Amino acid sequence: MPDDDPPGGDLHLVDLSKRFGRVTAVDSVSLTVPQGSYFALLGASGCGKTTTLRMVAGLERPTGGRVLLGDRDLTGLRPYRRPVNTVFQSYALFPHLDVFDNVAFGLRRRGVREVPEQVRRMLALVQLDGYERRRPGQLSGGQQQRVALARALVNRPRVLLLDEPLAALDLTLRRQMQGELKRLQTDLGTTFVHVTHDQEEAMTLADTVAVLHAGRVEQLGAPADLYDHPASAFVATFLGQCNLLAAEAAGTAGDEVAVTAYGLRLAVPADRARADRGAVHLGVRPEKLRLAGTADEVPAGHQQIPAVVTDVTYLGSGTRYLLRTGWGGELSAYTVNDGTGARLPVGAAVLAHWVPRHAFLLPRDPVER
Ligand code: ATP
Repeated sequence: MPDDDPPGGDLHLVDLSKRFGRVTAVDSVSLTVPQGSYFALLGASGCGKTTTLRMVAGLERPTGGRVLLGDRDLTGLRPYRRPVNTVFQSYALFPHLDVFDNVAFGLRRRGVREVPEQVRRMLALVQLDGYERRRPGQLSGGQQQRVALARALVNRPRVLLLDEPLAALDLTLRRQMQGELKRLQTDLGTTFVHVTHDQEEAMTLADTVAVLHAGRVEQLGAPADLYDHPASAFVATFLGQCNLLAAEAAGTAGDEVAVTAYGLRLAVPADRARADRGAVHLGVRPEKLRLAGTADEVPAGHQQIPAVVTDVTYLGSGTRYLLRTGWGGELSAYTVNDGTGARLPVGAAVLAHWVPRHAFLLPRDPVER
């Protein structure tokens, strides 16, 4: 880094693009990461997450666009001149150096005084005090990842970039490290930008999530907004299971959009509709569908679809049902096992019903089913 206390600020990606020959890996991405926030770049393999991160780090030169931190343009700066550090999935520790020297490496290279104090403070923060003299090969995967975090954070970066940092860990350790990452970010107030393909990880950790798809930002928002108000069928299904019914919308009347799906007349509140005319998807998440045996059990005002139970999976805390609708479509429902309802058997005729506000309408390409 150029000095001990470089200015911070919000991180702005402005029209950022990267082409590799004919492949457009990142396609005019513009977004702002607020200073001090935990930001996730979420997407499937190959959507351009890592390339975006590498352009912020200075490891990849953009084909177009800019990277700004506050009002400072980082685009042309070499990686070591940026107030940015990266933690990789592979940890990238020096195998011949012990934990202390791995963490101290960057400080010594910059000629910083008070190295021992800073290293000890950082090792305490990642709960590795007492491990100073171990080599990376004598540590577990989770411990190695903590050393990598300490080594990146000891340089006091304004922005910490994390590229699938937990992908190599088993599920239990991953959950534990998720909690630690969140705690570290909150304690230090450093801006974290975390790349992951795991929607649950992104939603657990981040204040703001950008869903990337084919090099572009498909949607950006708080986790609950993305889950409850997805902007596209891609986001709706990428963030969790979702029933999407092909439907036709007939426009907004009052505060509702009238929809026809396979001969059924349904309605969705107008503020839950991202399209109100023509081909649409009517979306309802499985946990929002409730199942009734008879019409009397369906509360007034609910929307409903008749169906037959075709499969029941007991999951401990809940039960998952697969349902076949009259027109041969499939719905998925999830009910919590709270001890109040009986489990429905395969073959039961049910009414799948939902609160109108729990559905949403998305535009649909008319050729999609
Ligand atoms: P993953 O989760 O699998 O790491 P990703 O979302 O991080 O994927 P990137 O690694 O950014 O995706 O790659 C985006 C696209 O750019 C892919 O199609 C990839 O094949 C291509 N790509 C990435 N790096 C290069 C390169 N150095 N040369 C050519 N193509 C590349």
